[in-house]
Amino acid sequence: MKLIYILSSAHSGSTILDLTLGANPPFCSSGEQRYLPWQLERTATSGGSLEQQTICTCLKQFRECGYWKNVFEIIRKKTDIDICTAPRRFPISFFGKFAYKDLGSFPQRVAGKLARHLLQLDVVPRRLAVAPPHLSAILKNNWILYEAMAEASGRPFVVDSSKDITRALLLHKDRPDKIVFLFISRGVYGYVNSMMNQGLSLEEAVRRKDNYSAMVNQVKRNVKGLNYYEISYESFVKYPVQFLTEFCTFLDIPADINEQMKNGILDTRTMHLVAGNPTRYRGKMQLRLDEKWRNSLTEQQIMKINRLTKHS
Ligand SMILES: [Zn+2]
Repeated sequence: MKLIYILSSAHSGSTILDLTLGANPPFCSSGEQRYLPWQLERTATSGGSLEQQTICTCLKQFRECGYWKNVFEIIRKKTDIDICTAPRRFPISFFGKFAYKDLGSFPQRVAGKLARHLLQLDVVPRRLAVAPPHLSAILKNNWILYEAMAEASGRPFVVDSSKDITRALLLHKDRPDKIVFLFISRGVYGYVNSMMNQGLSLEEAVRRKDNYSAMVNQVKRNVKGLNYYEISYESFVKYPVQFLTEFCTFLDIPADINEQMKNGILDTRTMHLVAGNPTRYRGKMQLRLDEKWRNSLTEQQIMKINRLTKHS
C-alpha cells in the first residue's frame, strides 16, 4: 500500500482529481478521508441522505456500503474496535478537527499551528515528532485505515484528498516511504472567481492563494525526502489520459487506464468517497474545465488580481 495525499487550497479541484484517479484500477479514492469517524457518528441514528451529503458516493447508506463494511471488518479484526458503533475510539484527525469546520480548542489550535510550523521547516527529528502518545496513536490508526482500504478494494494506491497539510506532514514524518504528495494548483483567475462566489473579497482570495503557494514552496524547499508530484487543475481536466500516464510512470507502475476515462468520462458511483464537495455524487460525468471566470471577472478585476499576486 502507498498513500497518495492530495494537497491544494479550497476550490482548486481536489475532489475531481481524487475521482479522476479513483476511476482507474491502481487507485482507491477516499475523498476527505479524515472525516470518516465523523461521517460514522452523524449517520449513527439517522442513516443518511443525499441532501445532507451523508451517504456513500455509490449512493448506498454509508453503513450499508459493502466496501466500507469490509474496511470496518478488517479494522475490527486488527484492533478489536468496532468503529461503526464507537467512531471516537478510532481517532484519525489531529488537534481537535473531528467534524467539518471544527477548529479545535484554543490549546489544540496553538499546538496545531506550532506543529505545522515545525513540520514545514522540518527541524524536529522523526523520533521526537511522532513520540507524543496521542499523536502516535492517531498515526497508527491512519495507517491501519489506509491498509484496510487497500485490502478491501484490492488496489495498491489509496488516495486521500483531506488537504490537511499538518496531517500529511505528520504521516510523512512517520513513514516517508509510504506517502506521495500530489500538489494541485488552480489558475489564479478561476480560483479567485470561485472564492468570490463563496463570499470572499478579491483581495482576500488573492492573499489566500499567495499564502498557500508560499506554504507549498516552503514545504518543497525544507522537507527532506519528500516524494511529490505537481499538477494544475487545468491540465489534468483537459488531458486526463496524459496526466494518468505520466503519474503512473512517476509511480513506476503500468498505466492501467479505464476505457471510459480515455474519453474523459468517469462514474462516481463506482467509488466510495467519505466526504468532499458535491461533485462526488454526480454519477456518470464528463471532465470539463470550469472557466466561469471568463464571463464573471471584469477587465479591471483581472488587472487588480495581476497587480496583487506575488507567488502564484
Ligand atoms: Zn459505497
